[in-house]
Amino acid sequence: MTTRRRPIVPITELEHSAFCKTEDELPAKPLAEELAVNVRWQQIPTEYLHFTADELDGRIHEARRKLGASVTVLGHHYQREEVIKYADFQGDSFLLSQQAASRPEADYIIFCGVHFMAETACVLADEHQRVILPNITAGCSMADMAPMDDVDDAWDDLMEVLGPNEIVPVTYMNSIAGIKALCGRNGGAVCTSSNAEAVLKWAFEQGNRVLFLPDQHLGRNTALKMGVPLDEMVVWNPFRNMGGNTPEQLRRAKMVLWQGHCSVHTRFTVKQIEMARQRFPEVNVLVHPECVMETVQAADLVGSTEFIRNQINNAPSGSVWAVGTEISLVNRLAINNPDKTVFCLDPVTCPCSTMYRIHPAYVLWVMESLLEGHVMNEITVPDDIRRDALVALNRMLALR
Ligand code: SF4
Repeated sequence: MTTRRRPIVPITELEHSAFCKTEDELPAKPLAEELAVNVRWQQIPTEYLHFTADELDGRIHEARRKLGASVTVLGHHYQREEVIKYADFQGDSFLLSQQAASRPEADYIIFCGVHFMAETACVLADEHQRVILPNITAGCSMADMAPMDDVDDAWDDLMEVLGPNEIVPVTYMNSIAGIKALCGRNGGAVCTSSNAEAVLKWAFEQGNRVLFLPDQHLGRNTALKMGVPLDEMVVWNPFRNMGGNTPEQLRRAKMVLWQGHCSVHTRFTVKQIEMARQRFPEVNVLVHPECVMETVQAADLVGSTEFIRNQINNAPSGSVWAVGTEISLVNRLAINNPDKTVFCLDPVTCPCSTMYRIHPAYVLWVMESLLEGHVMNEITVPDDIRRDALVALNRMLALR
């Protein structure tokens, strides 16, 4: 049996509130002003701190032009406007990684997203392609909640109690490459929020139960939809022995849910949905499956980022949408659908604090460094991890 380390709260969680803003405050300021919120940022040369939005825009365009086809820029839907406008491709994490793999002529992939996404791009990209994350502190609070040591300990404990081939590990895309590799090595797979149900169905055909990492809410919401009752699900708390469960509870469980969550999506509440319905009786409430179970059950529609985009982009003119997902995406949907009413469920606008760390000054810095022959913030994945993670990703792809 393994010993547990003392609980720590991932710092990104504590820092998150520093990024909650009014809508007027969302547009990017010079980096020096944004650094004043007293959270971790990567230090870069001082000259980049004081460029205005126009100066950054002009210089990024010039650098991008000079770099030409040697570079591809990928932008996640949750990126701020001032960054996503430079992206050659926009998408969710998996779509972007596939885009990276489909552009072998680009030697450098500048991934405007968070760390686990850049790692996935690295696993899927050609060997010669080098993946760059503009701000190295752009992690993901959910992925941070499942560090490798804790997951290895949990897997050892589960093997000890249940024995081999009794539990199938499934990890959400939003996890470090080491966890994807653990799934690949142990008969498991990766899933996204759009195919979680298909992957879980497959996993239940492989074994009696599933260890679902790292988002308990996506795991619970998906399993409930598939008919797994709540009393056949347990939560694995990495700070307690056996995750806080007895061996008997683990043997009875169909789903072992890692105790992780997304700091952005768990902000959406049933109360906010009630308020939206009072304000607009005809409203359609559309939330992401990383929201808590009660919120998901009170919503009209639940789905991935791509599902949310498609629903709103294809909705009839005049329809009203209250959306429970990241504010940069909701604002973009509202701008692109001026004939519809689209607003965020949460009246306090909290962008994903880690995505938000990709300020345009960082994008400029990595591009100008490339022009000078320096590859900054390269993300790499060791060969053995890459090989095993690819097994888990390919199992998912085979299910499509
Ligand atoms: S929205 Fe949530 S899960 Fe997605 S990158 Fe941000 S913290 Fe991570």
